[in-house]
Amino acid sequence: MESPRKHPCMECGACCASFRVAFYWREAESKDAYKAVPAGYFEELDSMSRCMKGTNNKHHPQCVALKGTIGVDGHCSIYENRPSPCRKFEASYENGHRNTRCDDARAKHGLKPLRPMDWPPQKKQDSEL
Ligand code: SF4
Ligand code: SF4
Repeated sequence: MESPRKHPCMECGACCASFRVAFYWREAESKDAYKAVPAGYFEELDSMSRCMKGTNNKHHPQCVALKGTIGVDGHCSIYENRPSPCRKFEASYENGHRNTRCDDARAKHGLKPLRPMDWPPQKKQDSEL
């Protein structure tokens, strides 16, 4: 029997090492923030904004929470506490539409863009970046 395909993001992580990940300060520091970004994983951009540590590097952004090897088993080590830009970022064709930022991030790390057929049939139950 053929083994079920993994969620493509579980074998990627390229977007976590391609862009600055900035968000409103309350996502990290408010005591009432739901699943706040943990201390030590973010840095201050200005009085209102924070970013994931490691992503404010113009030439080689890489989030401190990214673990594993990009393109093999790259994954978020604070998945339940990741900030809103990460929650909103959709992989190409995850919901039927191409995301050129996903494609660009993958290309930057030598990975081909995702295609509609890369998604397992049950993607809606187990997908979320
Ligand atoms: S918080 Fe997690 S999902 Fe967001 S950029 Fe960092 S490793 Fe990626
Ligand atoms: S959203 Fe795209 S670039 Fe990010 S982990 Fe998923 S497949 Fe990779």
